[in-house]
Amino acid sequence: AKKAGRNCYAWFDLSMERELQTRNELESGLRTAIPRGEIVPYFEQQIDLQTGRLIGFEVLARWEHPTRGLISPDLFIPIAEETGMIAEMSLSLMQQAFTAARDWDSAITLSVNISPFQLRDAWLAQKIIKVMTETGFPASRLEIEITESSLFDNLSLAQSIVGSLKNQGARLALDDFGTGYSSLAHLRALPFDRIKIDKSFVISLNESADSAAIVNAIVSLGESLNLPITAEGVEDAAIEARLKALGCSKAQGWHYGKPLSVAGARRLLAERRML
Ligand code: C2E
Ligand code: CA
Ligand code: CA
Ligand code: CA
Repeated sequence: AKKAGRNCYAWFDLSMERELQTRNELESGLRTAIPRGEIVPYFEQQIDLQTGRLIGFEVLARWEHPTRGLISPDLFIPIAEETGMIAEMSLSLMQQAFTAARDWDSAITLSVNISPFQLRDAWLAQKIIKVMTETGFPASRLEIEITESSLFDNLSLAQSIVGSLKNQGARLALDDFGTGYSSLAHLRALPFDRIKIDKSFVISLNESADSAAIVNAIVSLGESLNLPITAEGVEDAAIEARLKALGCSKAQGWHYGKPLSVAGARRLLAERRML
């Protein structure tokens, strides 16, 4: 039946076949990549807009593939989520990032991305706390980033996981705000400490009146709810100046440099005397 089906599908063209091959290749490669340590954390600078100081990093997954080079998380995170590998991958990333950052200046925080799939695990908070204990990285230097889509699945479980982490001193950020199913109700569903404006609005801030209006609205929303704002996707000084004038508290983006490896982050911190 498969053979006949395949003949029927004239639209199953070469590019789709290639795509599927790549996907299968990535999926089987990913299974071994995690234990082999090929999934590594990169560090994107976060800047205090009012002082201009480096105050932390967002931890971003990279796959150092032995033959393909550095692979983007947009390619392998969805596969890791579908196959359930995301949990192990995320804890391994935290283990590596916390080990690296433990000795950095105590003012440096880490923001880690948590997938909606992980918020189905009743033991997630305990697992993250265990990694913090083992690496000696304090929860007070940890920020958890979750997207709004995380809130649809099992809100009470998400609330209890987040509650346990916040009890330890971690903070919670709402990622990619303004995309997807944004609803003001989401802001009250979990005890968020901060909102991150999605980079799509920030990148076009100075070219699009709509983006400017959206960024303005999110900043004043943050002000009235007492939630500081992080802007991501800051690509130049003009956008930085605009966000600063608006009263955004933190910024990140290519204006400050591309995400750094552990070694790159260490070099930067050494230059700034923050090691
Ligand atoms: P995100 O959490 O929204 O992360 C920000 C993305 O924007 C990063 O891409 C970052 O490199 C990119 N970016 C930063 N500054 C700029 C800029 O100025 N301009 C532009 N055009 N882009 C900028 P990256 O590293 O490719 O990550 C893509 C997405 O993959 C992340 O989006 C996040 O959703 C996911 N991701 C990455 N690491 C992890 C992880 O460890 N766990 C989970 N669950 N998801 C992850
Ligand atoms: Ca993020
Ligand atoms: Ca984001
Ligand atoms: Ca995103």
